[in-house]
Amino acid sequence: MKVLKFGGTSVGSAERMKAVADLINDGSPKIVVLSAMSGTTNQLVQIAETLYQNANQEANALIDALHDKYKQVVAELYATDKKKKEALELISIHFDHIRSFTLDLFTIYEERAVLAQGELLSTALFQFFLEEQGIASVLLPALNFMKIDENEEPDNAYISKNLKLELEKHPGVNLFITQGYICRNAFGEVDNLKRGGSDYSASLIGAAADASEIQIWTDIDGMHNNDPRVVKNTFPIAELSFDEAAELAYFGAKILHPSSVLPAKQKNIPVRLLNTMQPQAHGTTISSQTGQGGIKAVAAKDGITAIKIKSGRMLLAYGFLRSVFEVFERYKTPIDMITTSEVAVSLTIDNPKFLTEITRELQEYGQVEVDQDQSIICVVGDFIAERSGSGLKIFEALKDIPLRMISYGGSKNNISLLINTTDKERSLIQLNEGIFERNNHNA
Ligand code: ASP
Ligand code: MG
Repeated sequence: MKVLKFGGTSVGSAERMKAVADLINDGSPKIVVLSAMSGTTNQLVQIAETLYQNANQEANALIDALHDKYKQVVAELYATDKKKKEALELISIHFDHIRSFTLDLFTIYEERAVLAQGELLSTALFQFFLEEQGIASVLLPALNFMKIDENEEPDNAYISKNLKLELEKHPGVNLFITQGYICRNAFGEVDNLKRGGSDYSASLIGAAADASEIQIWTDIDGMHNNDPRVVKNTFPIAELSFDEAAELAYFGAKILHPSSVLPAKQKNIPVRLLNTMQPQAHGTTISSQTGQGGIKAVAAKDGITAIKIKSGRMLLAYGFLRSVFEVFERYKTPIDMITTSEVAVSLTIDNPKFLTEITRELQEYGQVEVDQDQSIICVVGDFIAERSGSGLKIFEALKDIPLRMISYGGSKNNISLLINTTDKERSLIQLNEGIFERNNHNA
């Protein structure tokens, strides 16, 4: 059994949906996980915001506009009047449900129900299309098996037990369609795995079903060795280890939701990143095989805040770091990078929501300095295999860029550098010249 996930752009129009149907129709057993059609979740978020503000007229206009878009999809997707009629009825049920929220109090529960409609719509429309084409498949409701616990972490035991129960209801069926992103929470309410969470769904489903492979289909040919928006001539990385992929996914490469690596790694299931526009291309394979050592990729993450706490008391003291970390813990704010000296510690966060509170509490422990608009440049590879020389290449390439923090040795897969965001583009380009282009010349 393989799990194949198709993102919003891959199901973004009637034409794209037809292409997906062609891709999956080879008779081999699979579970297909779909995102909402591209743009839909953003529009649902906007509808929810308007409903929070009680701007019902505006909300109704947005709902009608989205409904019209789906009517257009129905008109283009199906060949027969019978299916068109069925599909129009189906989408009306979903949109009437969304409209019903204009009549009553709007809270987070209703918001989650609204956000779930995108994946419910895309999968239902796709299932209808397969039916019309005579392709045997079953629509599995993700809300029957996908679940998060009180800490908003996936409830793996529940997921695998209930997914198996759902699959067993349909002996002999080879093709299953289900929703990404949506789930139930510890209270049984409709909830979701956060924006971009369909990749995570696919990985959790792959792990729960002991899949032989998890494929993430998008409109890019895999994870690239550098940011294609900034650097010319980037190329897809053929092989990455789970750990390398996790670092890259977190630090910038938008193609894969960072949480989705872990479930696959735990069950040692290869994850392939493939391109619906070029289905034959190799893409990126993420597995326990590391492939060649050395530097594989460079990525950058913006919106980073650096915090420095300088204290005479840190000198020869123990317990200082714990007190500092506890402040971040109290505000549920994860720390990304950390560097220490004998008298100071610098760390970075990407969520500045509680920055004021955190800064205030840290002042108890020393002098606090905050730098905003920073970027983490993350160089990923296998630095054990190539034990020496990587640092030199990196620093040589960045010799004229002010480096605010450097983190090396935290893992064998990552060297992180903190710079001003204004230096980011230049850094990515220079690193590309210094690392990849030079390698090519040597080859
Ligand atoms: N539809 C959701 C989103 O746009 C989940 C996903 O596409 O992964 O965030
Ligand atoms: Mg995505």
